[in-house]
Amino acid sequence: MNWEDTPDQAAFREEVRAFVRDRFPAAYTPDPDAEQSLEPEDVRGYNWPVDRTSADPARREGAREWAAVLAERGWITPHWPVEYGGAGLSALEEFILQEEMMRARVPTVNGIGAFLLGPTLLAHGTDAQQAEHLPPIARGERTWAQGFSEPEAGSDLAGLRTRAVRDGDHYVVDGQKVWTSLGQHADWLFVLVRTDPDASPKHRGITFLLVDVNTPGVTVRPIRDIRGDTPFSEIFFENARVPVANRVGEENRGWYVAMDALSFERAGIGATIKYEQAIARLVEHIGSPEGREHLREGWEHGVRQEIARRYTEMRVLYNIARYTVSKQAAGGVPGYEASVNQLFSAELHQRLARTGARAFGSHALLWQRRNAPLAGAFTHMRMDAVAATFLGGASEIQRNVIATRGLGLPRS
Ligand SMILES: Cc1cc2nc3c(=O)[nH]c(=O)nc-3n(C[C@H](O)[C@H](O)[C@H](O)COP(=O)(O)OP(=O)(O)OC[C@H]3O[C@@H](n4cnc5c(N)ncnc54)[C@H](O)[C@@H]3O)c2cc1C
Repeated sequence: MNWEDTPDQAAFREEVRAFVRDRFPAAYTPDPDAEQSLEPEDVRGYNWPVDRTSADPARREGAREWAAVLAERGWITPHWPVEYGGAGLSALEEFILQEEMMRARVPTVNGIGAFLLGPTLLAHGTDAQQAEHLPPIARGERTWAQGFSEPEAGSDLAGLRTRAVRDGDHYVVDGQKVWTSLGQHADWLFVLVRTDPDASPKHRGITFLLVDVNTPGVTVRPIRDIRGDTPFSEIFFENARVPVANRVGEENRGWYVAMDALSFERAGIGATIKYEQAIARLVEHIGSPEGREHLREGWEHGVRQEIARRYTEMRVLYNIARYTVSKQAAGGVPGYEASVNQLFSAELHQRLARTGARAFGSHALLWQRRNAPLAGAFTHMRMDAVAATFLGGASEIQRNVIATRGLGLPRS
């Protein structure tokens, strides 16, 4: 396999670099104390959906200006058709755009709307739904959160119980969602609800709805994570009336809409670049006089080996991501390959965090960024990485997919 850019791709890469250099708002600076969200694309020190409504005017204006600048080129939604506010980029160009933004450490914008909901509406939405929702996503003016999981329905998503009962032109929704990433920062939600409680199999009684968070009866409560941060929420529905016009696809056929939505989630390059940059920082710090003081006594024997192993794994992940995107570029749909990417990335995230923390021995116990080696980057990463092996589908489920769909092993 040859991953060298073609001349056109090299020119596009150069265009992205120049664009970021010239147009990223100078006043939108990283916040050294900000926790990154658990999304691999987020760059440390920025969290665009949070910054967009920040109480700090410089952050708020910086986030909005960056969205406006990207939207001029259709680069919030690079893969959408131009007529909907996208840039019509190919899968490989989109990959290059994301790679260069990550390398330059500037945040991507409106990921859930741009990459999950937008393509779903393009495939399944009515003309009215597309006209209402696609332009504000492409401009970075309306953000979305995904309300699928429930307290008793995660891996077994088809067991969800949030109920929607038809009443004239509305559905009346009652129930609870949980772990909704960025739910408290979203303007709108896309949710799965049960419209047929007797359906067998269970997934045939589910419907896909778009819900304005300001609908009476919708309550969003942030959940605090292990780091003290609030990257997600639980959402309660009590007699919330949602117009039938907000249903995507047919009643009781929402499962298929949702599965399409999840398949649009691309095997991005974000995580690889994040790991590459973390390894580079670690190596640089270890080589500095200050860094050597932080090192655990006797570190050379084990940790040097471990860092080399993590570097090798990071290169493997890069190749898996390139392979997956090449398949998309050739018109294929990544199936079990997306699970290979997700599984390897999530477990590497945890191993890398452990390696970095182990290098610093007892210094890695320092949580406050001020006095900690590398501003506590690996200590915080260790906590961040705990959820990596279940947030995008549990590792056991990914292994099941690889075993059955990839390797053709029997289901039982
Ligand atoms: C940071 C974070 C962000 C999230 N963001 C969102 C979001 O935006 N929207 C949303 O809808 N959800 C979100 N989730 C929820 C996420 O999708 C679920 O956590 C995930 O699907 C796992 O479900 P669960 O937590 O209920 O665990 P469970 O499904 O209860 O799993 C518990 C354990 O049982 C194992 N297990 C379950 N079934 C099987 C099986 N068939 N075979 C083998 N082992 C099995 C699992 O692997 C796991 O180890 C988020 C979660 C996290 C942690």
